[in-house]
Amino acid sequence: MIKTILFLLIITNILHALEIVQKPIDFSEHRKALTLEYIQTHYGLSPQDITIIPKVIVVHYTAIPTLQGSFEAFNNEELPSSRSDISSKHATPNVSVAYLIDTNGTIYQLMPDNWMGRHVIGLNYNSIGIENVGKLGTLSDKQLQANVDLINYLKAKYPTLKYLIPHSDYRCMEKTPLWLEKDATYRTEKEDPGEPFMQSIYNKVPNLKKAPCR
Ligand SMILES: [Zn+2]
Repeated sequence: MIKTILFLLIITNILHALEIVQKPIDFSEHRKALTLEYIQTHYGLSPQDITIIPKVIVVHYTAIPTLQGSFEAFNNEELPSSRSDISSKHATPNVSVAYLIDTNGTIYQLMPDNWMGRHVIGLNYNSIGIENVGKLGTLSDKQLQANVDLINYLKAKYPTLKYLIPHSDYRCMEKTPLWLEKDATYRTEKEDPGEPFMQSIYNKVPNLKKAPCR
């Protein structure tokens, strides 16, 4: 009994200690409909809504130096034509993630973390994305600590979370049952968030699984 109370106190503490600033991107019924279409086309599933059961955390960087520039990249509901690397002929949902971490370590929530965002081929329906403003060489110690705090918060919130991977490892996840992409030609090369940053996160969060190729 005492153990249970202590456990609940610790969980409550983790859930309440973290400051998350709400900064919602546009996510109307239109974006939800485009997301449902994506789930059907790419994953062959027909769910009623875009709610997911999170099993993987994917860490990214935006390669954009400012918070506002990064936010704007996710805010449009439809994928802009400039993203020719992943676009198709008809309207598709723009890329998005639940969390965006600024260079000063402030954590912004852009959308509910149990809605499907489009941030990683093959794993969107199972994963929560964390984006970091910047790129390799600019990511800060404050961002590192914010990633660690956010990942610990998410682990406590969603006991279903099993994996923690950098975006650069996503193709290794094809070896797991979590992989869903139907189109074998739909792949990109990713290097974010960079090995030193990811290794520092792994050092501080050792108890989630890594991609099978590690
Ligand atoms: Zn990425």
